[in-house]
Amino acid sequence: MTARVLDGKAVAATVREEVTARVAALGFVPGLATVLVGDDPASHVYVRNKRRAAEQVGIRSIHHELPAEVSQAELESLIESLNRDPDVHAILVQLPLPEGLDSQAVTARIDPAKDADGLHPTNLGLLVLDRPGLRPCTPSGVMRILEHHGIETRGRRAVIVGRSFLVGRPLALMLSSRGVDATVTVAHSRTADLATVTAEADILVAAVGSPGLIGADHVKPGATVIDVGINRTEAGLVGDVDFEAVRRVASAITPVPGGVGPMTVAMLMHNTVSAAERLGSG
Ligand code: NDP
Repeated sequence: MTARVLDGKAVAATVREEVTARVAALGFVPGLATVLVGDDPASHVYVRNKRRAAEQVGIRSIHHELPAEVSQAELESLIESLNRDPDVHAILVQLPLPEGLDSQAVTARIDPAKDADGLHPTNLGLLVLDRPGLRPCTPSGVMRILEHHGIETRGRRAVIVGRSFLVGRPLALMLSSRGVDATVTVAHSRTADLATVTAEADILVAAVGSPGLIGADHVKPGATVIDVGINRTEAGLVGDVDFEAVRRVASAITPVPGGVGPMTVAMLMHNTVSAAERLGSG
């Protein structure tokens, strides 16, 4: 068997089209504020991509760059001013923040109505309650890939490797929500006999940050494998899944790059227009 490759770029393009139409229907230009602290090269690349994507769909990008030495109070005060700014409909603080800064406190400062990343405790709470709210971008991107490609979730066994608040845990809630109806297991670094656990999955999601962790032995024949991992190696950008080995066992697999990554950016645009629709022109 050679797995079908689930092209995240194509799904992201359809999300961007939807967002472009919704932006045009607003009657005003929505604003996405990006806040970048310090000089982590990967964070700079991510923010540049997000700003470019915003401009492409008609969202104004308002960028703030702060030195790594910025104080917690200064950073939080910038967030407060963006909360008050009627031209800003969504706020993204690029994570991780440099050492010494409390990212959870910063995230909690963001007005939940402008929480572009969907990581404010209020929005995470709404996710737990299965009520509408701004959802974390990467897990909602994974859900869109599954939906777009018609991957059945109801009654299926899903295993997520990784339990971060950014990816694994919110994705577990989404996959187990009513209407999606997967039976979900969350594995992590203390999971005993990982391969036995993952081999039960009809849908296997790797969100770890460990190149090639998931090999053919971890995968049930015919499973759908979603690789969230992004690892910079000498061989270039790779995921957590050994793509060449696993594609011979799985029935569908996302590539890295070109899988979940573009979806994360597309869902950020989706959240920004959703926030603008709710907030109005101010
Ligand atoms: P975290 O470091 O926050 O979480 C990693 C998780 O993997 C933890 O739960 C950890 O377990 C678990 N883990 C670590 N080693 C193992 C192991 N050997 N076996 C099983 N589980 C293990 O990472 P993130 O969730 O933030 O990101 C995960 C990956 O996804 C990274 O590569 C990141 O770059 C990528 N990413 C990609 C995005 C995209 O758009 N495609 C967006 C966000 C992230 P424990 O909790 O026990 O420590």
